[in-house]
Amino acid sequence: MSDCIFCRIAAGEIPSDKVYEDNDILAFRDINPKAPVHILVIPKQHLVSLNDVASPDEALLGRMMVVLRDLAADQGVSETGYRVLSNCGPDGGQEVDHLHFHLLGGRKLGPLG
Ligand code: 5GP
Ligand code: ZN
Repeated sequence: MSDCIFCRIAAGEIPSDKVYEDNDILAFRDINPKAPVHILVIPKQHLVSLNDVASPDEALLGRMMVVLRDLAADQGVSETGYRVLSNCGPDGGQEVDHLHFHLLGGRKLGPLG
């Protein structure tokens, strides 16, 4: 989708601080980090949110979880701990309508609101 900011990042049209990339998945640092480690992991294909995920996407979603686990290790927060979350829809606080998982770590995170 040409008007989707994360599709444009995936296409290289908008620069990002990439930390991981393969054929299907991209990970880059959040532009407004809420923690010392704040990385966004996205599918390169445009899926709006978890609501948009269908059975053929199951392998992709599983692969994204493994990428998140490996990034936590790369960033040195596996032992200290981290949080993975995906905001979905208005009540979930989703601002960018392209599926993404936040990886947060490097400080003690507060309770979920
Ligand atoms: P959401 O609220 O949709 O779960 O999170 C969207 C996240 O994307 C926010 O944390 C925001 O800082 C981040 N973000 C929005 N635009 C950009 C951008 O152009 N580049 C990067 N790296 N992050 C962005
Ligand atoms: Zn998109």
